[in-house]
Amino acid sequence: MIRGNMKVVGLFGWPVEHTLSPVMQNAAFAAAGLDLCYLAFAVRPGDLPQALQGVKALGFGGLNLTLPHKVEVMRHLDGLDRSAEVVGAVNTVVFEAGRAIGYNTDSAGFVNSLQAENVGIAGGKVALLGAGGAARAVVNGLLDNGVLTVAVGTRDGAKAGAFAGSFASGGRVQGFGWSQPEFLQALSGCDILIQSTPVGMWPRADEEILLAWEAVNPRAVVCDLIYNPATTLFLTRAAAAGHKIIGGAGMLVEQGAAAFTLWTGIEAPREVMYGALADVQRDRGRK
Ligand code: NAP
Repeated sequence: MIRGNMKVVGLFGWPVEHTLSPVMQNAAFAAAGLDLCYLAFAVRPGDLPQALQGVKALGFGGLNLTLPHKVEVMRHLDGLDRSAEVVGAVNTVVFEAGRAIGYNTDSAGFVNSLQAENVGIAGGKVALLGAGGAARAVVNGLLDNGVLTVAVGTRDGAKAGAFAGSFASGGRVQGFGWSQPEFLQALSGCDILIQSTPVGMWPRADEEILLAWEAVNPRAVVCDLIYNPATTLFLTRAAAAGHKIIGGAGMLVEQGAAAFTLWTGIEAPREVMYGALADVQRDRGRK
């Protein structure tokens, strides 16, 4: 129930109506007995500065940003944590004594989602499909946790090369076109294969990246960052080829759990968050 003493935590996006964060965060706030309430706001790109002024004036308890605001918001904040500086995007804002400080919890979210599945990163070789904003957070998390190499593959090899070159990785991150022999070799030697493009995401869940599955190391763990649907065609294909699979729900919960801790100073009730998300995904699957 919403009470008069509650502080609002907001999510700004455009569009934002399909977000699962309110379900997850409100379940967590209630379980922890906190007087906080999470609401999503559709904020037009041009309205972001005024919306930020508004949440400061209204005394919000915290803020999340999703597309298309994650980069633009950086110009309007009072400070940035290192997590936001290295990724070059903000998904979480903490209000500290009237100052708005930007953080990025996507890297930690991805790393923690692997840890939750007992998948190690240190010394491992990773093949990554896609080179967008989510891929940048993933690569930073991998580098911070001792990955040996990351081979980035995109449909346009030049983009992957530029993306790889933007990390101070000492050559550990390299970019290729995803049908180049070097990338096929990376697929055959990888410990973890990560799909970070939107291909296969609802409402176009019948689409998939046509990968040379026979080239992929049969022992590789296969991850897809997409969480809607919970199991993409890409993951279905990987499971059929005998791979352990990890969907994007874990990253979603873990980035949310990290934001929860930044706002509240306490450990997030992860099981409650995983449960709330699974309930919604089950309901959506029935429709
Ligand atoms: P983005 O910045 O738009 O990047 C998308 C990447 O995918 C780019 O490299 C793009 O290549 C490539 N791509 C797009 N359409 C493609 C197609 N039809 N064929 C081949 N490559 C294609 O998006 P993003 O923010 O990184 O998000 C990517 C995915 O991650 C989304 O599905 C999002 O839902 C998911 N995600 C999940 C979480 C989570 O918590 N689980 C968090 C963040 C994001 P070009 O540059 O060539 O177009």
